Amino acid sequence: MRAETTGALIDGKAVAAKIRERVAEGVRALKAKGITPGLSVVLVGDDPASAVYVRNKGKACEEVGMRGETIRMRANTTQEELLAVVDRLNGSKQVHGILVQMPLPKQIDPEVIIGRLDPAKDVDGFHPVNVGKLLIGKTDGFAPCTPSGVMVLLREYKISTAGANVVVVGRSNIVGKPMAALLVQPGADATVTVCHSRTKDLAGHTRRADILIAATGKAGLISADMVKPGAVVVDVGMNRIDDPSSPKGSRLVGDVDFDGVKDVARLITPVPGGVGPMTIAMLLENTLLSAQRFAGRRAD
Ligand code: NAP
Repeated sequence: MRAETTGALIDGKAVAAKIRERVAEGVRALKAKGITPGLSVVLVGDDPASAVYVRNKGKACEEVGMRGETIRMRANTTQEELLAVVDRLNGSKQVHGILVQMPLPKQIDPEVIIGRLDPAKDVDGFHPVNVGKLLIGKTDGFAPCTPSGVMVLLREYKISTAGANVVVVGRSNIVGKPMAALLVQPGADATVTVCHSRTKDLAGHTRRADILIAATGKAGLISADMVKPGAVVVDVGMNRIDDPSSPKGSRLVGDVDFDGVKDVARLITPVPGGVGPMTIAMLLENTLLSAQRFAGRRAD
């Protein structure tokens, strides 16, 4: 059985553009008060994918009028050296958001670094204080950008989560777990199932989902027969696979078999152009929010 209309796209690029415009407005308003929101991104080492992410974040900051700073550190940076940079950024009045690009080289413990960030500047939302606030439903912290972006997409497309069976596949600290935490809060009111690599009968769970969110890093894991007709499918996955027909020799795909699932789902996010653009937009929004909070504290 097929849903009446299937395969309509959730256009993350368009929603992200709207958010960026709104952020740019907020930045202009703060600048008029003499405050320029600033995001500092720290990149340790020379991982090519991380370098691309960091460049995109810097560009995005400029486009909305923020001060974007990238601090590049060599691959053999010690934990103490990185902590010293975090301390400096924590203390800087010009910096409202700090992001340490992951993954870090193996001599550095990411938990130690994240734990040292000032939670008020942790715009990625990974500091334990912000994780705790998210879980208990306090809104004065920061929620991680990717799951927040998914919530905005659902809202923009008027997809109600209240009482809906939402299945999240993936339980990472950056996507799966905070996604579940956002969905289960009063207000969102979803009934949430979290699946992972040890889940028995994954398809049995996914087939019950009114909203299915895939965040596994496994290309094409979710096939058409795993999706309930008429479901909303959100694909967080970003996987590079070989494709000799593409000029680059590879292409980006999600965790969902898009071609098969689009004929079953009512709405689906494409990869690229779905969740991806939302992540940076939410990072900008969190940085603006941080600057607004700091400005408010100064005015008190
Ligand atoms: P991760 O830390 O590797 O976590 C993957 C999760 O998927 C784990 O919980 C794992 O289970 C689960 N999993 C793996 N294989 C599975 C299977 N066969 N069946 C069921 N569950 C399975 O990855 P992540 O950081 O959450 O990222 C997930 C994907 O999202 C990646 O493709 C990543 O590139 C993408 N991503 C995209 C954005 C964006 O902006 N669009 C942002 C962040 C991440 P276990 O816990 O049992 O191992």
